[in-house]
Amino acid sequence: MAVDELRAAVRDIQDFPQPGIVFKDITPILADGRLLRLAIDRFVADCEGQGIEKIAGIDARGFLFGATVADRLGLGFVPIRKKGKLPWKTASLSYKLEYAEAAIEVHLDAFRPGERVALIDDLLATGGTAAAAAKLVEQAGGNVVQAQFLIELGFLKGREVLAPHTVKSLVVF
Ligand code: 5GP
Repeated sequence: MAVDELRAAVRDIQDFPQPGIVFKDITPILADGRLLRLAIDRFVADCEGQGIEKIAGIDARGFLFGATVADRLGLGFVPIRKKGKLPWKTASLSYKLEYAEAAIEVHLDAFRPGERVALIDDLLATGGTAAAAAKLVEQAGGNVVQAQFLIELGFLKGREVLAPHTVKSLVVF
């Protein structure tokens, strides 16, 4: 099954980026053309029928999946970037990560008012990043229809942090 193949390809890296953290490395999926296509096919299928008008991807691995899905659907792509990288006027938000603090930004003119947005990232852990990103999309005028992930770390309950947004993930650990 596609999901089992994707799950088997994820590599656990002990103590990265800090002692005590087991990092889920998705680069084996990116490096395998067949698995990459499987993952993108699933992301695209999860968008179908939702009236999605724009894809927003979270820095940095969310760009890889998000922009590819946007291209497949013939939609535009909006990068949600780490602070200080976007050149124009931004909305900005600080939030707590699993193992650090961070701030992300989006261009203020990234969305038409009420535009239906799918938010994409590689992994949902505590949900802090995606919840901040969803808030930013809404500050910039977009309507977050769903948040999509390649991997969900179910035991961290990020899904609850993202409520009431719809969460769709391909592989749950
Ligand atoms: P959260 O804010 O949900 O705790 O963390 C999710 C964010 O951190 C995502 O942007 C994700 O890319 C990154 N992240 C946290 N832990 C991991 C991990 O184990 N593997 C990968 N690939 N990304 C992670």
